[in-house]
Amino acid sequence: MTDAPLKMFNSLTRELEPFTPVHPGEARVYTCGPTVYNYPHIGNMRAYVFADVLGRTLSWKGYKLTHVINITDVGHLTDDADAGEDKMERMAAAQKQSIWDIAEHYKQVFWADVRALGIRQPAQWTVATDYVPQMIDFAKGIADKHCYELESGLYFDVSTVVDYGRLARAVTEDGEGRIDSVEGKRNAADFAIWRKTPPGETRQMEWDSPWGRGAPGWHLECSVMSGEVLGFPFDIHTGGIDHREIHHPNEIAQNQAHCCTNGLDDPKNSGAKIWMHNNFLVERSGRMSKSSGEFLRLQLLIDRGYHPLAYRLMCLQAHYRSELEFSWEGLGAALTRLKRMVMAVGPLADVAAQPEAEHQKFAPVLAKFDAAMADDLNTAVALTALDEALAVKKVDAGIKRAVIEDMDAVLGLDLFGLTRETLRIRPKAATITEAEIDTALARRKEARAAKDFAASDAIRDELVAAGIEVMDGDPLGWDWKLG
Ligand code: AMP
Ligand code: ZN
Repeated sequence: MTDAPLKMFNSLTRELEPFTPVHPGEARVYTCGPTVYNYPHIGNMRAYVFADVLGRTLSWKGYKLTHVINITDVGHLTDDADAGEDKMERMAAAQKQSIWDIAEHYKQVFWADVRALGIRQPAQWTVATDYVPQMIDFAKGIADKHCYELESGLYFDVSTVVDYGRLARAVTEDGEGRIDSVEGKRNAADFAIWRKTPPGETRQMEWDSPWGRGAPGWHLECSVMSGEVLGFPFDIHTGGIDHREIHHPNEIAQNQAHCCTNGLDDPKNSGAKIWMHNNFLVERSGRMSKSSGEFLRLQLLIDRGYHPLAYRLMCLQAHYRSELEFSWEGLGAALTRLKRMVMAVGPLADVAAQPEAEHQKFAPVLAKFDAAMADDLNTAVALTALDEALAVKKVDAGIKRAVIEDMDAVLGLDLFGLTRETLRIRPKAATITEAEIDTALARRKEARAAKDFAASDAIRDELVAAGIEVMDGDPLGWDWKLG
């Protein structure tokens, strides 16, 4: 059941809008991808879980999806507003490695996280350095009317487009939040679309252009890759909420200049009909960062014994537009919920799904699920519909399996792939093997049967010392967990 009309929140209009595709029957989506200079943190990965759920929902609703995610391997500065160094160049210098090796390494790291989180492969990963000639062409096309050259590069004059900054709802005059570090800029918000290599320097990544040797600006990259692959206007552009402030307003300005179109009262003049932004994952202490405190990589969660899909579930339990606070307790609760789900599908493991059969008993939960996803991807409510479907009793198992598979196609929790065994991940620090745990638990069972509680308690203490918590009478039937 997929009849509920899909609506989503457009950051450009700040309103819920019906999804009406540019090309009938199709959905074309562009997602701003990672800058591959470092490990992604789990906050970054929230952005791709969100984009994945969006893509899955569009497919589920019957649209032919073309999803593009880019890989930024050049041009992203340490400050979004045109200040600082290229993140890639800086990391390469710090690690005394070639920038190309750094890019390749962190791209693979990112893709491993993508796979672990059940994020589907997009139709295309566009890599910025593969599109430099197109970027130069794009810049040439808008240079005369919209840009000016300074010693350090070619700059976009934001006063040459109508409604600059509308996406951010920014007051452009004072260029709030912009670092006006470049002498000669006409407006504080003007940004480089081509950064010239300073005289006497060579960068590891640089190309010839009409404005001298140098490298493209980060904003230019996304305008070019999205337009090249999806064509303007396309349906949906996504990114994290920080991109609503600088990166996406700048992409929009370039797109307006490129398409020779006018104001943003018609959202599609921005290059995309709908702009969607996920809110941040935050730490209790504040914003998530790659440099301060505990660096929350997906691998750290796994090292501590949490299955990556528990993190995916944690993301889905919140609305994508709400801030989500990370805590280990919250992650633990998500893991328990995922275990319960996997236990509940256990009896359906060997059943053949009957997708065509009538499933009247499931009609209300399917309608609830559909309405929730259609309502700006309300995954939190959709999950409760999934729970209700899992709890339906006295139904044909094949029908039940088909219903759960259908819901999981949208949520991506891999409920039929996971098992009790694969969900239980050994923390890296655990000092005991599973065989040893099993032996100890068998000995403890014997001791208890013989009413030798001192021995049974001693075995329990040994296990606790080795990081294993014994869970007598655990409702999920898990008799131990890694503490
Ligand atoms: P970056 O690699 O820095 O370009 O970021 C990749 C994506 O992660 C972008 O869409 C960001 O907007 C997004 N992002 C960054 N930090 C967070 C966070 N704490 N929570 C959610 N998304 C984030
Ligand atoms: Zn981008």
